[in-house]
Amino acid sequence: MQAESICVVGVGYVGLIQAVGLASFGLAVKCVDLDAGKIAKLRNGIPPIFEDGLEDALQSVIAAKTISFTTDVAEARDCDLFYVAVGTPTSERTGNARLDYLEAAVSAIADVAPVGAVIAVKSTVPIGTCAALQARLDRDHADKRLAIVSNPEFLREGTALKDFFNPERIVIGSASESARQRVRESYAAFDQRGIPMILSDTSTSETIKYAANAFLATKVTFINEISDLVETVGGDIDDVARGIGLDSRIGPQFLRAGPGYGGSCFPKDTLALATIGRRHGVQQQIVETVIRINDSRRFHILKRIELAMGDKLSGKRVAVLGLAFKANTDDVRDSPAVDIVHALLEEGAEVRAFDPVAKFTVDHRAYQQCESMADACEGASAVLIATEWAQFRSFDFSAVEPLVARRYMFDMRRIVDIDADWASRWDIERIGSSLKR
Ligand code: NAD
Repeated sequence: MQAESICVVGVGYVGLIQAVGLASFGLAVKCVDLDAGKIAKLRNGIPPIFEDGLEDALQSVIAAKTISFTTDVAEARDCDLFYVAVGTPTSERTGNARLDYLEAAVSAIADVAPVGAVIAVKSTVPIGTCAALQARLDRDHADKRLAIVSNPEFLREGTALKDFFNPERIVIGSASESARQRVRESYAAFDQRGIPMILSDTSTSETIKYAANAFLATKVTFINEISDLVETVGGDIDDVARGIGLDSRIGPQFLRAGPGYGGSCFPKDTLALATIGRRHGVQQQIVETVIRINDSRRFHILKRIELAMGDKLSGKRVAVLGLAFKANTDDVRDSPAVDIVHALLEEGAEVRAFDPVAKFTVDHRAYQQCESMADACEGASAVLIATEWAQFRSFDFSAVEPLVARRYMFDMRRIVDIDADWASRWDIERIGSSLKR
């Protein structure tokens, strides 16, 4: 038996990065996922997700034999530390995070784990979840003395591996000091570099995660509202953002005007925090307002485009460039681009979309995902930039001029070079710039 090896249960965006990251420190890591297709790919060194640098990192830990993959958690019965990174999607019924995947994973671990093992929850979970899991383990597996730790994840898709190796802080919450120390030990490489470690109880740790995401979502929503104002009163939102972001009390990050926040975390986590607040009679009014503004934003954008074009989108062909919720990821969960596709289809437009890596299908005869930007722009009356991919930034749109029906572009990400030669021949509107009409 290999003592003190680590198991990661659920190797999606978070779990796989955690597993590859720890394995690259030389720690022995076993990966468990119910998805046999995912495990088969991983065994062959193929990441099931798109993430910069992941393929090379995965193949080097496979070559170093510090990582292994299985669908059967029983193969991890020799591990003393289990990280759980299964999904906690929004429950349609309650608005809170669903815990069924987590509860199933923790029960499966508890059945096979050795006495004294530590189960560290990386999934984002409602405040009180870890305490409830601990109580259940104490009741159902008292003889095993298993300890729950809350160890929330702060990585960003698109820069996930870089974020793993350069954390700004690590949060470790537990009722058990020895369990906190076991998790801390697995991050010894970060401890040696002086990365701040926040050791707390589980409620504090769980709250930190939700509060961090809600704060960032608020920052995005704030600049989007200021951007709307700039469109009407005049000015340039990038200069406004720079002007406020240079104030160190505010900081420059998350001040890019756009179609609203999306992805698998912010929408779900803000909604969960609002639901938790209501459940405890402590309404989170700022977060509730942020959710409301963000939800309606992407649909207002279509009205904004129609106003700018002086025409309805209904019956027109529209090119949507970008489907992922942000650049450098293939994740389309809660993507503003995808909502805009749906809204366009509802409006009666024909949509031709292109994304360098993300795939999105919808069963609608007026929708097609194309293999190239040129293909997507064929016959388009409007070209919408929906994701901030670098290749859209540097693309010379003169190449598609002969293809489009009208040289109209709406840049929701403010990335195209409006000073480029080709731009002078196009009618370009951007979020956060004065409306032309
Ligand atoms: P994901 O859907 O990409 O991955 C979850 C994985 O868990 C899947 O591969 C699934 O097959 C597996 N799984 C589910 N039940 C299982 C079980 N019982 N045993 C083994 N495997 C099981 O999810 P994700 O994006 O990695 O998110 C995981 C958690 O981390 C969520 O709570 C999320 O909110 C949180 N989080 C995500 C991010 C992010 O950027 N994606 C960042 C921070 C925190």
